Amino acid sequence: MVFEVPIPAAQQRFRPGAALLRVGRNIATNLADLIIPPVCLACHEPLSQHDTVCATCWTEISFIRQPLCDRLGLPLPFDTGPGSISAAAVANPPIYDHARAVAHYSGVMREMILAFKYGDTHNARKLFGRWLTSAGQELIDECDVIAPVPMHPRRLLTRRFNQAAILARELSRTTNLRYQPQLIKRTRQTTAQVGLSSAQRRRNLAGAFTVSSGQRRYVEGRNILLVDDVITTGTTLNACARALRRAGAARVDAIALAIVTNDSTVTL
Ligand SMILES: [Zn+2]
Repeated sequence: MVFEVPIPAAQQRFRPGAALLRVGRNIATNLADLIIPPVCLACHEPLSQHDTVCATCWTEISFIRQPLCDRLGLPLPFDTGPGSISAAAVANPPIYDHARAVAHYSGVMREMILAFKYGDTHNARKLFGRWLTSAGQELIDECDVIAPVPMHPRRLLTRRFNQAAILARELSRTTNLRYQPQLIKRTRQTTAQVGLSSAQRRRNLAGAFTVSSGQRRYVEGRNILLVDDVITTGTTLNACARALRRAGAARVDAIALAIVTNDSTVTL
């Protein structure tokens, strides 16, 4: 039960402007609901509000929760205190500083990302923005500039949009942080990373990213937060981080909707 403290009559001042605004907003919301009724963004079942998923779909998303490896953002089997690092991060330290992801790349999250990437609608972008803000809060607190993992212009022509840029713009909108869509340039179209060994992946991406001279002033001495849809092996993020470090970035972090994991946890 919620107890509300009654406002004394003297303080209940009628403000016609605020009341009108409220009425206007309610009418607009109801009209919008009539035109596009709210549905679950994953299974499209009717819902009572926009920009969310139903309870069933929610339970089928494997959200990543603490304790985490501070560098890779992967779940750890038990809590060893703040700043814990996984064995994987010690064996192969990433070039970026810290990565975080909202969920594992599986189930409903995977379906939603594929629909967002290859479908024509970006209805989920507001929800994704809220999720990214929540999962990346500690990185956002330290961030100066938000930038997407770039797509090569030729690929952009066929795909028409870069999903990482849509996510980065949404994150910038919810956090009010500077958004630099052209911060990193993809200078070379690379072959697909699938099926390549880690050495081949590194060679495939070597020199594929650069920071143009016009963008350097947003990088030098700044903390950069890179945004991508999915972190698979981290090779792309490392290649971007290398380019940013060469351009003088103080810190490079990364946030994604999902991270590919072989297991639900990594060893310490
Ligand atoms: Zn649903």
